[in-house]
Amino acid sequence: MLLEIDDIRVHYGKVEALKGISLQVGEGEIVTLIGGNGAGKTTTLKTISGLRKLSAGRVRFDGADISKMPGHKRVLAGIGQAPEGRGVFPGMTVEDNLLMGAYTRKRGQAKETAKDLAEVYELFERLAQRKDQMGGTMSGGEQQMVAIGRALMAKPKVLLLDEPSMGLAPMLVQQIFSIIEEINRRGTTVLLVEQNAQQALKLAHRAYVLETGKVVKSAPAADLLDDPEVRAAYLGGE
Ligand code: ATP
Repeated sequence: MLLEIDDIRVHYGKVEALKGISLQVGEGEIVTLIGGNGAGKTTTLKTISGLRKLSAGRVRFDGADISKMPGHKRVLAGIGQAPEGRGVFPGMTVEDNLLMGAYTRKRGQAKETAKDLAEVYELFERLAQRKDQMGGTMSGGEQQMVAIGRALMAKPKVLLLDEPSMGLAPMLVQQIFSIIEEINRRGTTVLLVEQNAQQALKLAHRAYVLETGKVVKSAPAADLLDDPEVRAAYLGGE
């Protein structure tokens, strides 16, 4: 397994947000976490990227225990994240925002960086058209693309995506899901958190359902699309 989370507990003050979550992500997979508000999806991603500390449990990545590794080292190790809320630098151009993602590169890799930038522009045509526009003047959906593009510039082994479809117009939602599929097809493993459970389950290979800080179900995504409980709770009950 590329990523293994073993019985993790995370607290905010006295409140236990994650109550012993275990999950695995294999190389090449798209795995999705679904669940209601406050279930612990974002906290799980933050714990993997090193933004939240564990009270108990372990995170293993690419064969090593990274439970205590600081966040910036996890980026170097190959964990890429496009955070919820996006974090685009408003006063920098789209292109400079993307190049910020390549900061983990060693000097003298300008050619590789240029190639990766071209790949990001191929995935996100909109970013190519707007490369000289200031990040802060991009629309919400476009900023989401910048955030994902920037994460890809670090060449992650696994890409953590937190609500990539949030706030997007329906046409852009479709587009972002097909781009995620393409990113995976090109070899990047994806761990996806989504409110849009229907779309996420259609895209993913496997899924975990979280409720109040616990995993209540895990199964191939296609099975969950047919699961009556999941349909009633997360797929609009049809
Ligand atoms: P949503 O779909 O609403 O974003 P989520 O599944 O991503 O929810 P989390 O954001 O991980 O859920 O939150 C899990 C629990 O931890 C919630 O009860 C939330 O209120 C709590 N929590 C999250 N962040 C903080 C914080 N900074 N301080 C205190 N409590 C927090």
